[in-house]
Amino acid sequence: MEVNFSKSPDGLVPAIVQDAITRKVLMLGYMNREALDKTLADKKVTFFSRSKNRLWTKGEESGNFLHLVSAAIDCDQDTILLKANPVGPVCHTGADTCWNEVNEDDGGFLNRLEGVIRQRKDNPTEKSYTASLFAKGINKVAQKVGEEAVELVIEAKDDNRDLFLGEAADLLFHYLILLQAKGFTLEDVTSILKERHKK
Ligand code: AMP
Ligand code: ZN
Ligand code: ZN
Ligand code: ZN
Repeated sequence: MEVNFSKSPDGLVPAIVQDAITRKVLMLGYMNREALDKTLADKKVTFFSRSKNRLWTKGEESGNFLHLVSAAIDCDQDTILLKANPVGPVCHTGADTCWNEVNEDDGGFLNRLEGVIRQRKDNPTEKSYTASLFAKGINKVAQKVGEEAVELVIEAKDDNRDLFLGEAADLLFHYLILLQAKGFTLEDVTSILKERHKK
């Protein structure tokens, strides 16, 4: 990735951070070459803070790091787009993002649900069913998907609408959990479907 840092007189380039799962725009910061190199090396987003006048790893005090998933450059190499998984609220006000009002369109309900599943995986709480599933490991999660699939097959033979849709929802939910337990998201699956669709 070749970034043109010399375009701005201070050598700083804007870096937009987007949630890798929910697609929400999270925050904007500035990067010099050092900040970008550190971000790519540590897989944790580090900016050059204009107010602190030094490298600033987002989350260094709050613990709310941004775990890097991918980095891309725009058409004329002067703006960076980072996809990341946030550990906690990204804005210093405690809000999820620095643009809460304009983030209504966040990629739809399934993306939001995947965001909640990720939270349960990263910050497990005792009461959470989802967290307890992750704790039991991949095999158990996969087994649950199998069970829900069988339950759906059974309900498909009948004509009880509520039972069928209930099992369909169970399957989809556990399917999303299995994807994340394996380190994937629904987008990894839809991109395969899109590829096949082209043929
Ligand atoms: P943190 O990097 O999250 O540990 O926060 C350290 C300090 O950085 C905070 O006290 C704020 O001054 C500043 N800060 C944190 N998050 C943001 C943000 N999203 N936008 C601007 N400044 C921030
Ligand atoms: Zn540009
Ligand atoms: Zn903010
Ligand atoms: Zn079920």
